[in-house]
Amino acid sequence: MDTIRDWLKLFSPKAARTNLVLLGGEPTLHPDLHLAVKEARRLEFKSITIDTNGYLFHDILDKITGDDLDFLSFSLDGATRSTNDAIRGKGSYDTVLAGIQKAEKKGFACSMIYTVSDKNIHELDQMPTLVQGLGLKRFFIQVIGMRGESSKDSQSRALQVSKDHWIKTIPQVAKKIADQGIIVTYPKVFLSRDDKFQCAGNVAKNYFVFPNARVYQCPICEDLPLHSHEIQDNKLVTMPRLNEMDLFNLSIPEGCVMNKMIQPGNLAYDKDGNPRHKIACCMLKQELTP
Ligand code: SF4
Repeated sequence: MDTIRDWLKLFSPKAARTNLVLLGGEPTLHPDLHLAVKEARRLEFKSITIDTNGYLFHDILDKITGDDLDFLSFSLDGATRSTNDAIRGKGSYDTVLAGIQKAEKKGFACSMIYTVSDKNIHELDQMPTLVQGLGLKRFFIQVIGMRGESSKDSQSRALQVSKDHWIKTIPQVAKKIADQGIIVTYPKVFLSRDDKFQCAGNVAKNYFVFPNARVYQCPICEDLPLHSHEIQDNKLVTMPRLNEMDLFNLSIPEGCVMNKMIQPGNLAYDKDGNPRHKIACCMLKQELTP
């Protein structure tokens, strides 16, 4: 808790403009998560969210209130028990739905995260019906990976979604959910050649802070030693070159540089070798408000 307090304080000078998301792994496994939430509230962060798998360990709902937290965000990766549990583990479907109901009754604002892959995109159109009556305030569609015609890796291909499938499915489902009064957010992913590309590393300030003190500005490279900052003695220290910041300024016709380096399977090229589409920054989201 001392470390969490120190690190929250480090980011607190801009707390009023900062959305704080506590995620994992599973953040409710931390026995003192409630103290971290209360400390963040005391420091007046603009919003505080917990992303959870729904198990809500350590009776977190009994230790904080809806006033302490802006959003409790539940991950569900299938509209049916069998699909979700095959991805997220046996029993997780029922656990998430029960967790949402319990949290709603206690006055928490709940949201849902659906991470789309080839294994569950076919059930996304059932989600508008499933979420009816759950009282959700927000619905987030995320993507695990996208596939271009050049993808060769059969294992990752099994989890990925093609551009056509994405475009035919996601906006329509998002609209149906938004029509129920729920704010829906989903990533743009594919830009046309004329769309302006921007890297969040250059135009926004997002910090992904890890327990090992690494701090990234791009979420895609977070398992690699490319972090731009590190917390040392409770100070945010810029790392020497090369790091992710050196890559943000590179301009390539494929759009996101990190995507091309780390997950190039979602790129497709025409016969002249030109990319068929640019990949947007993964932080670029579309938002549908009811
Ligand atoms: S996903 Fe790509 S565009 Fe977005 S911050 Fe990372 S490198 Fe930049």
